[in-house]
Amino acid sequence: MKEIAVIGSGTMGNGIAHVFAQYGHKVHMVDINPAALAKAMVTIGKNLDRQVTKGLITEEDKAKTLANITPTTDLKAGVSNADFVVEAATENVEGKLAIFRQMDEAAKPGVILATNTSSISITQLAAATKRPESVIGMHFMNPVPMMKLVEIIEGFKTNKEVTNATVGLCKSLGKIPVPVYDYPGFVANRILMPMINEAIYTLYENVAGVDAIDTVMKLGMAHPMGPLQLADFIGLDVCLAILNVLFEGFGNQKYAPCPLLVKMVTAGQNGVKSGMGFYEYTHGSKELVIAPNFVKLGV
Ligand code: NAD
Repeated sequence: MKEIAVIGSGTMGNGIAHVFAQYGHKVHMVDINPAALAKAMVTIGKNLDRQVTKGLITEEDKAKTLANITPTTDLKAGVSNADFVVEAATENVEGKLAIFRQMDEAAKPGVILATNTSSISITQLAAATKRPESVIGMHFMNPVPMMKLVEIIEGFKTNKEVTNATVGLCKSLGKIPVPVYDYPGFVANRILMPMINEAIYTLYENVAGVDAIDTVMKLGMAHPMGPLQLADFIGLDVCLAILNVLFEGFGNQKYAPCPLLVKMVTAGQNGVKSGMGFYEYTHGSKELVIAPNFVKLGV
């Protein structure tokens, strides 16, 4: 059993805390927003209930998992005794650089500082610390308790032992780690985000509606979910942030975010978490109310 600090308790942070706690680790779940922490505990409880209903875990496992998680707004207290730290806060370079400085100061020497960033340079985050050799990308997929893949990203100075330890830790959580190198979007989002962006362009140019675009990709490509609904699940703000990293990182027009995506994020229509994206959702739930939502194209 290890002590794990997870920074951020949103969509990904609560899932990461859930999985570590389920596998017997003591988790300090840190967020600057107390309301986010409260919501995260409710979400973890609901997701554990689903696992109990499916017969994957027992009521006792659920109780033990919840008891392993301590929510806190105090990053220093959460990180100072941790044996491993995973940052899963908002996808914003300046914010993450500040968090990495704080984590580096608070963590014990030699402790690995991992980040769940979808696209920000691991090398850049590592350079904000005095332990760049111990900084690594640990990119879980959404929803974390269900998805097997973890993309492991080595920064320019990441030590091989750190990679091996992180790979081993992922395997011990029942996950399948795939190591890759540090370039914008890594592998997963370098391929996924241009597809989502193109789906949004297809809607923006009125080639087809939300339902038609998602149906073509579901039935035609055997995707379990259409790209527009997937974007809602990921968070439209997160998609926009990743596309901007790809656009700036490669300086290539092909990654330019669709103006419709920019407009929806500006309006706060961020997908499941805001109750409205390309579809509308029952508040705080992933359940569709109507499909699809009316999207004002303005073209
Ligand atoms: P989110 O918006 O749901 O949650 C982010 C949380 O971080 C919020 O609760 C916020 O209060 C908290 N936070 C912000 N600044 C903080 C700070 N200084 N200290 C502590 N907490 C802070 O975002 P998310 O979707 O969970 O994304 C988190 C990270 O995971 C991002 O780097 C994102 O790119 C990555 N990611 C997201 C997905 C996805 O599908 N959403 C998938 C893989 C990776």
